[in-house]
Amino acid sequence: MSPQEAKNRIESLSAELKQHNYNYYVLAMPTIADFDFDKKLEELSSLEKQFPEFADPDSPTQKVGGDLTKEFVTVQHRWPMLSLGNTYNEQELLDFDQRVRKAIGDNFEYVCELKFDGLSMSLTYEGGKLVRAVTRGDGVQGDDVTTNVRTINTIPKRLREGDYPDEFEIRGEVFMHLKAFERLNAERLENDEPTYANPRNFASGTIKMQDSAEVAKRPLDCFLYFLYTEKVLYKTHWDSLLAVKSWGFHTNEHSRLCSNIEQVFDFINYWDKERFNLSYDIDGIVIKVNSIAQQQELGFTAKSPRWAIAYKFKAEQVQTELLSVSYQVGRTGAVTPVANLKPVLLAGTTVKRATLHNADEIQVRLKLHEHDWVFVEKGGEIIPKIISVNLEKRQPDASAIQYITHCPECGTLLERKEGEAAFYCPNETGCRPQIVGKMQHFIDRKAMNIDGLGDETIETLYQKGFISKISDIYDLYLHNDELKKMDRFGEKSITNMLAGIEASKQMPFEKVLFGLGIRYVGATVAKKLAMHFKNIDNLAAATTEELTAAEEIGERIALSIIEYFANPLHQQEIERLRAQGLQFVAEEKVVTLASESLSGRTFIISGTFETYSRDELKDLIEQNGGKIVSSISAKLNYLVAGENMGPAKLEKAQKLNIPIISDVDLLGMIE
Ligand code: AMP
Ligand code: ZN
Repeated sequence: MSPQEAKNRIESLSAELKQHNYNYYVLAMPTIADFDFDKKLEELSSLEKQFPEFADPDSPTQKVGGDLTKEFVTVQHRWPMLSLGNTYNEQELLDFDQRVRKAIGDNFEYVCELKFDGLSMSLTYEGGKLVRAVTRGDGVQGDDVTTNVRTINTIPKRLREGDYPDEFEIRGEVFMHLKAFERLNAERLENDEPTYANPRNFASGTIKMQDSAEVAKRPLDCFLYFLYTEKVLYKTHWDSLLAVKSWGFHTNEHSRLCSNIEQVFDFINYWDKERFNLSYDIDGIVIKVNSIAQQQELGFTAKSPRWAIAYKFKAEQVQTELLSVSYQVGRTGAVTPVANLKPVLLAGTTVKRATLHNADEIQVRLKLHEHDWVFVEKGGEIIPKIISVNLEKRQPDASAIQYITHCPECGTLLERKEGEAAFYCPNETGCRPQIVGKMQHFIDRKAMNIDGLGDETIETLYQKGFISKISDIYDLYLHNDELKKMDRFGEKSITNMLAGIEASKQMPFEKVLFGLGIRYVGATVAKKLAMHFKNIDNLAAATTEELTAAEEIGERIALSIIEYFANPLHQQEIERLRAQGLQFVAEEKVVTLASESLSGRTFIISGTFETYSRDELKDLIEQNGGKIVSSISAKLNYLVAGENMGPAKLEKAQKLNIPIISDVDLLGMIE
């Protein structure tokens, strides 16, 4: 392909894919099959690699901002980002209407909008390009989170031709759909990572992350609801909403124009019920005076506009009876109490259970008694929460709920670690849900992804006595004949299963490590550990200090790893798996020494860097003959310091007169 042909093809593919993205994310009306879309994206990506000179930074292939932004820059808002006055009842809203009338007379309209429960975001466009995204912050200044916001599909990075001004600001709400929230939270639970209480927290936690590649994995969405321009372009707010929609922004289709407060109430009453059928959370309705001239006449208080107000919905609460408390044991042995409730209708669904989190929730916060009547509320979570107890309905002779002392599955005395809320069953090798759960975790799609072997088969094989730990899976082939005789399995499925097990021996170290199910070592952490320590022996021998020196590894994870490897049972299991042929060494990117420039010199990398991750710098040093050491001593040659490095380290290095260099200096040392 000639450069000219490539250029044309890249341009036409980009344009086509952008249109498809727009159809899919903004109009929600895709006109291409996912498969075909991916094919085209692949073609574009390979052309861009071949002809990097034609690659556009806004290309649909660049949706993922792969670089690490370590700290957010504070940016002054051009127009302050105010909050809204709140009302909770009809009277307060009527008062608002009165105040508006008094100021501007009777001739006006309202625009009613849903009040999305997310975080507000200010976007600045110049020449049709997104140049800046800033959080509300304190209203006067916020965090520049542009790199993260660029990963949001429904926010256009570059506008198509249109009648928009050269420079403008547009504001909206970034949020997460309930489905995505549930899916991602379930994954976090599975990986022993803390879950988010509701989609709003998940969204704001995500926007504040340092690694935008990680942000890109968490689907966020954004509704835009306000346009700011130097000169007023539209007579009404409604017209400006129509305009920004035509420019390619995601506006909300439920906004309504109302000619009086009665219509506003109709809108509110409708959505008070209907909100539970939306795919995202709203916490109220925003009412805005439509005419921009009238908005200007009304003006602002110090905190909020006088031309708009938020009507907040009350969280729906119901009362029901506590029937019992049951306890679930997870694969790590953690015990989770669950309240079984007399079924009751709440927010459109029948509720039978509520989370109780831990023992303190039961005995300290709620002081639950048998057959208490409890108030239940649905927040962002799908499983509702018990808010409080109706003490008036408590039977005088009711006894307090006692948290169990022994494992409901195996009867072992439960343990609680210092500083932790949860109780654990320590009987790792004799407690059914732990044994089965660990094996199920190991074969999971995100871990070893073993073809032909599913959760139910694991359960059955365990019950039949074939397997009770991960390594037993790799000896299943020895039972080939017995397995084929089992009535629930066909010969073909046994063959497939055994083939899948054999093939999984080639899964990379990071997947094996994740599959082992070490507490707090989720998929991402496993990957970082594999990259950093290269093999299981280095990892097993690492001290807390060495562990926490690795990227993203904190004290909690470090302790859990050390505890895991200290257990002789785990050591035996790893030896057996190693003998069975699993991968315990990270695949080396073939290191041909790039140069000898750093040979004979030692380095420590500390802090965070603008352009490189610490592991990349580490590779760079090693590929050029340098050596990474773990602690600062007088013998150390260089300390490569990024931002936010620990003050103790810095002080020590300064005391020993060790040259402190930047990543740029380091690059300069390499030929
Ligand atoms: P509050 O934080 O309760 O003062 O409410 C004000 C916030 O509501 C704004 O900062 C926005 O983030 C958010 N909001 C959600 N939906 C809308 C909307 N349709 N119009 C204006 N603000 C909204
Ligand atoms: Zn147990």
